[in-house]
Amino acid sequence: MKTWYFLGACTAVLAYSIVPTYTAKFLHRVRREHGGKTLYLTFDDGPDLLYTPQLLRLLARYDIKASFFVVAQFAAQNPAIIQRMQDEGHLVGVHGLVHKNGMLQMPWQAYSDFQKARQIMQHLGVNIQYFRPPWGHWNVVSACQMYRCGMKPMLWDVMAQDWSASETAESIEKKLLQRTTGGSIICLHDGRGKDDAPARTIAALRKTIPQWLEQGYRFDTVDHYGK
Ligand SMILES: [Zn+2]
Repeated sequence: MKTWYFLGACTAVLAYSIVPTYTAKFLHRVRREHGGKTLYLTFDDGPDLLYTPQLLRLLARYDIKASFFVVAQFAAQNPAIIQRMQDEGHLVGVHGLVHKNGMLQMPWQAYSDFQKARQIMQHLGVNIQYFRPPWGHWNVVSACQMYRCGMKPMLWDVMAQDWSASETAESIEKKLLQRTTGGSIICLHDGRGKDDAPARTIAALRKTIPQWLEQGYRFDTVDHYGK
């Protein structure tokens, strides 16, 4: 009897979260944009009152448009930053209500969080078209809600572990330059992270952006990905 309970629980977890998570990763890989000279800078976990304005200033200096996947509760606390992102031509997507792992959420929590996040963003005047779940982890409810609300998934190709306290601006710069190729969606963080991590991310970008530009890369928002 215990074996049946165990098998049933495993099947439920597979169907609820593992299948949607790995299906989304697989589809992202299939649709991957290859070649060309476009890079897609994306920033998760903000907005942050201290770091996001610094990042926006840096992007404006090079006239780079990026995509921000914001945590809805942080967005509600920083409406002026969300407005500035939109005014300056950046794309604003959503990254959950409070950065919970979709694999560990009960269905009713996933439903409630998704709807609250959507309401917050609507209240801030953002027409959300893209959803990036925290850690890229989905469940059936979050996936269904996303499609029902007319949103699209947006994952990434390049990470530089910039949230970690063990990374330096130099190590982030090195990883970005090594791992990026034409068409890469680059996932960085302008909020949360360990020991002022976004400061190191911004310092790395100060060095990396001029090198990318010198190599002939240009930048675009993810709504132009694959087009
Ligand atoms: Zn995140």
